[in-house]
Amino acid sequence: MPLARTLLYISHIQRNIIEEGHIDMDTREMKLLDMHCDTLIECWRHDDRTMRHGPGHLSLDLMLQNHGMAQFFAIYLSRIEMQTMEPYEIFQKVYDNYRMEMSRNTDVIRSAFSAEDIEKNASEGFLSAFLTIEDGVFIGDHMERLREVYDKGVRLITLIWGFPNTVGYPCSDDPEENARGLTEFGMQVIEEMNRIGLIIDVSHMSEGGFYDVAKYSKKPFMATHSCAKALCGHKRNLTDDQLRVIGETGSVVGVNFESSFLKDGSSYATVEQIMRHLDYMVNKAGIDHVGFGSDFDGIDSAGELKDYSGYSRVLAEMEKKYTDDEIDKLTHLNVLATMRSIIG
Ligand SMILES: [Zn+2]
Repeated sequence: MPLARTLLYISHIQRNIIEEGHIDMDTREMKLLDMHCDTLIECWRHDDRTMRHGPGHLSLDLMLQNHGMAQFFAIYLSRIEMQTMEPYEIFQKVYDNYRMEMSRNTDVIRSAFSAEDIEKNASEGFLSAFLTIEDGVFIGDHMERLREVYDKGVRLITLIWGFPNTVGYPCSDDPEENARGLTEFGMQVIEEMNRIGLIIDVSHMSEGGFYDVAKYSKKPFMATHSCAKALCGHKRNLTDDQLRVIGETGSVVGVNFESSFLKDGSSYATVEQIMRHLDYMVNKAGIDHVGFGSDFDGIDSAGELKDYSGYSRVLAEMEKKYTDDEIDKLTHLNVLATMRSIIG
């Protein structure tokens, strides 16, 4: 992957923008590529909520003001709506609302379907939206739905959420339950996602499922929003061995800002806790395999960070211990490189 070319590309573009004398907002440094948020379902649920202005943890305004480059926007298939709607129906409703929101914000954001798209959008001063689905429950027995959502622009699926589905099982504190692997159908889903060009996300998945993906996927994968279990014993976090496998398979993991994943029993996330997980995961998975997946608008509170604007404080901390090149890797280049190796 042409890492050096990417760095040059971005700095070259920034120089161009400055030379052309664009307004200040266009000269901002676009840096942050965040792998998970639940903003879209909040926008769909609440009439007073928009992608552009919030309120909430994440909005296009906040991205523009705080080094935002690209966001993986998940269509989260919530159990609340599933009481009255089929999962695929929820997907379609939230998707339609997303399309409407995107059409209202063409001055600041464009869709992206690849790493190249994100780089191109950034070079032209635009944010990028990368569409994902959280919970493979919508697949049911319908393998063809993978192609259908691909055709609608989805490029990543978080295969499991909190409950078993036709693909596999969620992470669990019970060792036996956690050891359960993918179903037979789940194995076929992995194959089909590899074939179509859909990124596999293993966050929320059982440990057995994780190792099945690592073994059977022909492509690297992502754990978009998970932390380190050695630092906080929450079932959603990844063991040292899982982090090692992420590094070895050329995959990437995103630090989650949920307080209970950062520190046992905590209900208030701090920059220091986030940095501890970032440093630890860099140590175990490698400097090329860690990024961010805040889970903004999916977590109850962003704690000390307050909202997306808190990323500036994380960046300030990172500057104390990482080089500029390393910060570029952790904020966006690692995710872009993994995307490139999976879907181009
Ligand atoms: Zn999640």
